Amino acid sequence: MENSKELRTWLDNMELPHPLVIAGPCSAETEEQVMKIAHELKDSDVSYYRAGIWKPRTRPGNFEGVGALGLKWLQRVKEETGLKTCTEVANKTHVDLALEHDIDLLWIGARTSVSPFMMQDIADALEGTDKVVLVKNPINPDLPLWLGGIERLYKKGIKNLGAIHRGFSTYAKTKYRNIPEWQLAIEFQNRFPDLPLINDPSHITGKREMVFDVSQTALDLNFDGLMIETHHDPENAWSDARQQVTPDALKQMFVDLKMRKETD
Ligand code: PEP
Ligand code: MN
Repeated sequence: MENSKELRTWLDNMELPHPLVIAGPCSAETEEQVMKIAHELKDSDVSYYRAGIWKPRTRPGNFEGVGALGLKWLQRVKEETGLKTCTEVANKTHVDLALEHDIDLLWIGARTSVSPFMMQDIADALEGTDKVVLVKNPINPDLPLWLGGIERLYKKGIKNLGAIHRGFSTYAKTKYRNIPEWQLAIEFQNRFPDLPLINDPSHITGKREMVFDVSQTALDLNFDGLMIETHHDPENAWSDARQQVTPDALKQMFVDLKMRKETD
């Protein structure tokens, strides 16, 4: 895969606001919760509404998502609010169901992008799609592995591609949940300046009070967008309770964040 302006076509053609904002809960929990948050995010800077319905939990026994039922809730979000929708897919069954339900953007999570076998299965299932597909970095700081996964999609004619930087696992004690290793994201941008790169400050920080600063760093580094987990009652969220922000806090963030000027 070569860098080419074509990689940026979807972002330019859809005339989406800059930065691109993806927001919504870590997990779809109930239809009421999904609809409530979506209505609170309507008429804001948010273009895409996210909600995980198949959740990759570290240990069994935790909430693992509502499954395919949540796809209907996302369809309702699109009908009622006009927000585009997105969810995480990790295998062919997820892809087929998400496409059947006309989900606008599919992302591949950090525990999936780490496996070339899984990436190939997903690429095969998505062959030729014009949906937007974003690939999160693998949990380990391995740039070629990240790029290789994206390349598998590209080779199957999937051109509306992008990447999400969500930080990297570490056993060291740090203030981050996943260390950003910004230099790796910068190297990514240098090699593929036309491949849209979105930052996920929620999974990098693991703490809502740090989300603003990491978002600002990402904007300063010219990222194309932000994916921020947003919940109307973060403390009681069924997953990632510590890192989600309320819709009001998210809206205030976009008042306070300093945007890079086009000419910078
Ligand atoms: C998520 O976006 O909720 C998620 C599980 O992310 P990641 O794959 O980055 O851990
Ligand atoms: Mn999450």
